[in-house]
Amino acid sequence: MSGANTVNEQRLWQRHADMARLGGTPRGGVNRQALSPEDAAARNQLAAWARARGFEVFTDPIGNLFVRRAGSDPQAAPVMSGSHMDSQPTGGRFDGMYGVLAAFEALEALEDAGIATRRPVMAVAWTNEEGSRFQPGAMGSAVFANPDRLDGMLAQKDWEGVRLEDALAETLKAAPAPMRDAPGFPVEAYVEAHIEQGPRLENEHRTIGVVTAIQGSRRYIVSIDGEEAHAGTTPRAARKDAFAAATRLAAALYDATTDPDDTLRFTIGRVEVSPGSPNTVPGKVRFTIDMRHPDDGVLAEREAAIERLVAEKTRPCTATLEKIGNMPPTHFDPRVIGLVRDTAQGLGLRHMDMPSGAGHDAMHIARLCPAGMIFVPCERGISHNEIENATPQDLAAGTRVLVEVLETLANR
Ligand SMILES: [Zn+2]
Repeated sequence: MSGANTVNEQRLWQRHADMARLGGTPRGGVNRQALSPEDAAARNQLAAWARARGFEVFTDPIGNLFVRRAGSDPQAAPVMSGSHMDSQPTGGRFDGMYGVLAAFEALEALEDAGIATRRPVMAVAWTNEEGSRFQPGAMGSAVFANPDRLDGMLAQKDWEGVRLEDALAETLKAAPAPMRDAPGFPVEAYVEAHIEQGPRLENEHRTIGVVTAIQGSRRYIVSIDGEEAHAGTTPRAARKDAFAAATRLAAALYDATTDPDDTLRFTIGRVEVSPGSPNTVPGKVRFTIDMRHPDDGVLAEREAAIERLVAEKTRPCTATLEKIGNMPPTHFDPRVIGLVRDTAQGLGLRHMDMPSGAGHDAMHIARLCPAGMIFVPCERGISHNEIENATPQDLAAGTRVLVEVLETLANR
């Protein structure tokens, strides 16, 4: 008997529906931003379900919410699973919440099957993964992995100047739970379930994404200096047109970052042209680059190509490339990856290995202990959108994989 047999698809789906009412929007999504009253309501709901099952509930100084099902060995470090309950302002019902509810369903399924594990099994809801109200995102898991970051995070302010420390205090007052005195504790292994937030599983008719890595990202600002001139009198040959240089450079950059298997992500998301007058040749252009790939070597190699093109393609203007962000890729633990793959296979579920395009809490926890992720499909790959959708069957399938994986890890 495995806990996978007692995963209750209907209960899991109903829990998603119950949570979707907390911050629910007229278009069927949720607005449940970090440390809002809606976030507090979700915390109370999860804690109430946990207490009804006799599980221990507690929180930590950054507000991560933990649910613990005891193991038979009181000395053993727990295995943990979870994600986040906060959402984008126009978010969907499954991003993050699925990982929390799948982890909680795993605890319930083990309980229903009467299975004792040697290690405790824990569900966690990390504080502020989305980073839409308070920066940076994935804050709760970052502090759990590195408690030295706590004070810096508590000092963050939202757009209206509210200090995170105050918003957190208010949230914990509205959703009280026993408080640990410091963030972070030993964890044996961590596995996070999440909707894919992309279209690959659906396109390839697979139910389970075996997540091997979270891709790394590098961000840059390109600044091009030309010379402002009269649009009516200045001959083309005499111009130093910063926008013309930017278009030549951008076209070359798109070419240089095309790869045959479409893994590299390259985006120019913001362009500023100045002085921004219809009859003046632009003297200055600034634009951003966001580039992501699971292999840091590929990012380094493309960065060198970008540097070369910035110099070559912008003459007679001058240009600089400034690196403003560098998050290295996360490589999940081969044993956890193998366990997720073998478990999906054993349950007869169609699966594929894939890197994650988006960042997740697991990227921080992977620095602490062996970690991995399980993806399930979401409709047309749409996420960070109120119409985000997934099927009860797929959510339950991912949870069955999760339970077996946790059970195996918890008996090591
Ligand atoms: Zn998420």
